[in-house]
Amino acid sequence: MVREIAYDCDVLVIGGGIVGLSTAYAITRAAPGTRVTVLEKEPGPARHQTGRNSGVIHSGIYYRPGSLKAQFAARGAAELIKFCTEYDIAHAVTGKLIVATERDELPRLHALIQRGRENGIPVRELGAAQIEEYEPEVRGLAAIHVATTGVCDFVGVAHRLAEASGALIRYDARATYIDRRPGLGVAVRTDDGTVVRARVLVNCAGLHCDEIARLTGDEPKMRIVPFRGEYYTLARPDLVRGLVYPVPDPAFPFLGVHLTRGIDGSVHIGPNAVPALAREGYDWRTVHPRELGSTLTWPGSWRIARRHWRYGGGELRRSVSKAAFTRAVRRLLPAVTPDDLIPASAGVRAQAVLRDGTLVDDFLIQEGPRTVHVLNAPSPAATASLPIGREVAERALAALTAT
Ligand SMILES: Cc1cc2nc3c(=O)[nH]c(=O)nc-3n(C[C@H](O)[C@H](O)[C@H](O)COP(=O)(O)OP(=O)(O)OC[C@H]3O[C@@H](n4cnc5c(N)ncnc54)[C@H](O)[C@@H]3O)c2cc1C
Repeated sequence: MVREIAYDCDVLVIGGGIVGLSTAYAITRAAPGTRVTVLEKEPGPARHQTGRNSGVIHSGIYYRPGSLKAQFAARGAAELIKFCTEYDIAHAVTGKLIVATERDELPRLHALIQRGRENGIPVRELGAAQIEEYEPEVRGLAAIHVATTGVCDFVGVAHRLAEASGALIRYDARATYIDRRPGLGVAVRTDDGTVVRARVLVNCAGLHCDEIARLTGDEPKMRIVPFRGEYYTLARPDLVRGLVYPVPDPAFPFLGVHLTRGIDGSVHIGPNAVPALAREGYDWRTVHPRELGSTLTWPGSWRIARRHWRYGGGELRRSVSKAAFTRAVRRLLPAVTPDDLIPASAGVRAQAVLRDGTLVDDFLIQEGPRTVHVLNAPSPAATASLPIGREVAERALAALTAT
């Protein structure tokens, strides 16, 4: 006799950030009637990366042609603007400048222009004098203007995705134990002892995605190394009209400290990139010994430290010294003084690092039996959340069909 298993849902998503909610939304759009449950450990959606970022809708200029980032960013930006318009979510297409302030950045600025063209992003090259047309207080040797970049309320987007998905969203529900057996689906126990049984599991746990992957029994061959990004609010927001970025260092998957006028008109300066002492370590005081131990016992962390100690040292100095941070910002915005910088809340990036110290640059999605894991969804994943959600949903639905 075949025993019937009572599943609570068809697809169970762990993580109520923008990627998990977009996945839930895409599943119910593509296959109406599919029962989706989302488990989120916080009392509401978007409390971590999705609610603690720069709020920028990226155009897609930076990414290697052919990468998932390049494929999803430009398409994602256009879809996101449509989504925000349809659901009346605050957003604006402001355009942005990428500014070279040192001679050795000029070849990288030109390489970016080339890359933008390869990715089909319209860009305008500016000489030093033309920068003023867009940003009178910003100084540089040359710049690029990207007209399609914008800002939006990603928390608002996450709320709308949650509502529009029709999924059952369970807040204050931390997944703590996972039992996946052939023929029996996946059972997930939450911290209050409830067990949710699903045919297919989707792991969108952001800063904890490697831990969730290992709970299923899959070895993801990467670990999340948390990099905090600290911000200041600019006391004189009139110094900046829109978005101003430095030329990024290609050795890192981070874009560098930028000036961002958000949808509320305030200007944020940041984020830097310093190691966080806990996955949700939003300041230096927050230390989680087990999580710190997991970072320190991963060989890749030490390889990054050996390779990038000089750059890392500079970032640490700028994290603990406002004067050093101000000096760095003044390269772009000479009028800024330490008194203009008001500390603001930080974010922590879930950066996947391989055993050999490679900082995974592209989005990384892996599959296990009845399971889809999103293992690297850094910037611009909020911008690209609608296409990423569709990609993950497609894989989850294929796994569902196979069951
Ligand atoms: C400083 C910073 C600046 C950024 N700037 C931009 C930008 O300007 N534009 C852009 O497009 N992208 C930006 N990003 C990237 C963007 O924020 C992320 O790519 C995106 O938010 C990732 O979404 P997520 O759903 O994967 O992760 P998260 O938003 O972190 O969501 C994961 C969720 O999983 C939950 N969770 C974890 N473990 C469990 C568990 N065991 N049980 C239940 N729930 C669990 C968490 O509570 C969390 O809500 C930035 C990121 C940072 C940190």
